[in-house]
Amino acid sequence: MTAYDYDLFVIGGGSGGVRAARVAAALGKRVAIAEEYRFGGTCVIRGCVPKKLLVYASQFPEHFEDAAGYGWTVPKADFDWPTLIANKDREIERLEGIYKRNVEGAGAETFHARAELVDRHTVRLAGENRTVTAETILIATGGRPAPHPALPGHEHCITSNEAFHLAQLPKAIVIEGGGYIAVEFANIFHGLGVETTLVYRGAEILSRFDMDLRRTLHETMERKGIRILCHAVSEKVERRPDGRLDVTVSGGEVLVTDQMMLAIGRVPNTEALGLEAAGVRTAKTGAIEVDDYSRSNVDNIWAIGDVTNRVQLTPVAIHEAMCFVETAFKGNPVAPDHDTIATAVFSQPEIGTVGLSEDEAAKRYPELEIYRASFRPMRNTLSGRDEKMLMKLVVDAATRKVLGAHVLGPDAGEMAQLLGIPLKAGVTKDDFDRTMAVHPTAAEEFVTMYKPSYVVRDGRRVD
Ligand code: NDP
Repeated sequence: MTAYDYDLFVIGGGSGGVRAARVAAALGKRVAIAEEYRFGGTCVIRGCVPKKLLVYASQFPEHFEDAAGYGWTVPKADFDWPTLIANKDREIERLEGIYKRNVEGAGAETFHARAELVDRHTVRLAGENRTVTAETILIATGGRPAPHPALPGHEHCITSNEAFHLAQLPKAIVIEGGGYIAVEFANIFHGLGVETTLVYRGAEILSRFDMDLRRTLHETMERKGIRILCHAVSEKVERRPDGRLDVTVSGGEVLVTDQMMLAIGRVPNTEALGLEAAGVRTAKTGAIEVDDYSRSNVDNIWAIGDVTNRVQLTPVAIHEAMCFVETAFKGNPVAPDHDTIATAVFSQPEIGTVGLSEDEAAKRYPELEIYRASFRPMRNTLSGRDEKMLMKLVVDAATRKVLGAHVLGPDAGEMAQLLGIPLKAGVTKDDFDRTMAVHPTAAEEFVTMYKPSYVVRDGRRVD
């Protein structure tokens, strides 16, 4: 028995914090977890989960259109935003309850309070006017949308946080950014009938993905009616007398809109956490600096998830939580493995990707074989939808190892999850070739691309 109130105190009840608290408590450790807002954190409350529900909602107009080719007559459909938001909120509340019950069920104590460090073993619970002590402290406070103070009129803008709770669906929206959130929300709003403009400072949206997919997604989104301005930034946002907004973009064009949404990245939640008092070091970005095992410079204080700004993805935070528990409580040091993480962008069409893009691989390997297929998925034949699916394998010519697998099209996220396993295991293209197809599926294309579409030698494409 230690002299501390708890073996582990977790600050932050999101995906990472809840997982660590639950698993440590199940080991018989005396655990407490504090959450100042709602259990579930960004992913459950105002991120991945509600976003996916909005994605589903926004896909219905295309499903209704596609139905005609299959013989259905669909009467004119009406959409009610408040109904969607209320139903979404009910589901989020249900999940929030499950998160809290699971952690309590494992034996952890929960506090609905903001927690701040007083020193390396002491935590103050704001509002409860008391302090508690713990032998080990885990910080899992996540992040929040990056503000944009340099943009005149930024106070008129919303972020993804507010997008989930707008009182009414805007007629028009401008979205700043070209990453996951900007692209996903552009498709959501467009699907729901909102006139949507994306303003992105770079040459092509989704800078971290394979160029082929980026270009094809860009073209498809434009064909659907989303306006995408690349090499552009918003320069000012002004409220008009009629309540709408004027957004002036570089080049001088003024976009008249109802909402302006900033999706320019996320920043770690480390302000006023008492990190200085406890002696915890942070990077320039505000992120807590940790070693390979998620331990900060103060040896009893650890940090996982977005607050460490390593890879801002829910499954990564959960994996880091599991590694933390192994290391700190099971005497089995395990460093989280951040290599070859499968990921999806829930754009329309979706992107699913794992491993290296062609351009990244070309920088690291002298010769690549690229297997590429672009085709109309069967579902789009009778519906007449003019949207192609794109699949691509990036292979190291010397070893035949598959370095990257990329999909653009329906269910790409589901495919990326499964492709993540063989790529993590280090499979070769020959393993793909030996695998029997599942027919008729779109995914079968991955095991039937026998001949390289082209070769990339010393960074140059050779047809
Ligand atoms: P991203 O990092 O994906 O994208 C940020 C975008 O904003 C980039 O296009 C960036 O441009 C641009 N940008 C940055 N600063 C400025 C600026 N000052 N002015 C104009 N544009 C700017 O962040 P998001 O906010 O989209 O999402 C945050 C994170 O959340 C993601 O990185 C991802 O890890 C996670 N997430 C994951 C999802 C999923 O798994 N499906 C869904 C949503 C979020 P540039 O490219 O030039 O840097």
